[in-house]
Amino acid sequence: MKYCRCERAGRIHYGLIEGDDVALLDGAPFSGGRTTGERLRLAEVRLMAPVEPPNVFAIGANYQDHIDETGSSRPERPLIFLKPTTAVIGPETPVVLPTMAPDEVDYEAELAIIIGRTARNLPPEAAIGAVFGYTCANDISARDCQKRIDRQWTRAKGFDTFCPLGPWIETDLSPADLPISLRLNGQVMQQGTTAAMVFAIPYLISYLSQAFTLLPGTVILTGTPAGVGMARKPPRFLRPGDTTEVTIGGIGTLRNPIRAEGTDTVRAPCCA
Ligand code: MG
Repeated sequence: MKYCRCERAGRIHYGLIEGDDVALLDGAPFSGGRTTGERLRLAEVRLMAPVEPPNVFAIGANYQDHIDETGSSRPERPLIFLKPTTAVIGPETPVVLPTMAPDEVDYEAELAIIIGRTARNLPPEAAIGAVFGYTCANDISARDCQKRIDRQWTRAKGFDTFCPLGPWIETDLSPADLPISLRLNGQVMQQGTTAAMVFAIPYLISYLSQAFTLLPGTVILTGTPAGVGMARKPPRFLRPGDTTEVTIGGIGTLRNPIRAEGTDTVRAPCCA
């Protein structure tokens, strides 16, 4: 099933997508939300980030071809970082190149896990049972901050708008071997499969749950395959007017335009 968050006439709803309609829910589907009987046309709503996560965890260096292209070494255990929830935006919402670091902003297509129930200390064989579903993510990264200025990742991967999610959550999906790609202005830049992850999804969830309580709605970004802008010769960083599209088989396409800070008439709000 496909679950979304959407806005119409200033009201925000969770919904279940059924054909051309959205059946509205009275709460988040992973927190017991039920259908209200009210329906909207999918074409008449604005899709938002499909979840308001309590935490966004992310995994670095989780595809060997991306490790190779960046000249880093294969991690012995999952490399975890956090993205702030204020970085989350939805489909079609602009990624904003920040004035303080606009020059080396990069894309990373990633499969995102959405946790469905509170979980702690899960063994790998029980991990998939805690999953609600999956969506597309773009782990936007300011490489100058990441590699040279800060040399850690909080600001580099945490600027406002640096965590596009969407377009919806697919719940009926096996994540083990899904095609994943990113197009920049229509040109394929990344193309891989989730089967190439260094640490598979059950192991990642189990590992995280040994450190952190995973709450319903928690998002976990699972790493990116090769083809990022910084590894290209010459590098290809994001510019105002660009468009990124993350496509994952069985889910759909997450599309976001790129803008310079201060050029939007309306500032992108949190979880827009
Ligand atoms: Mg990443």
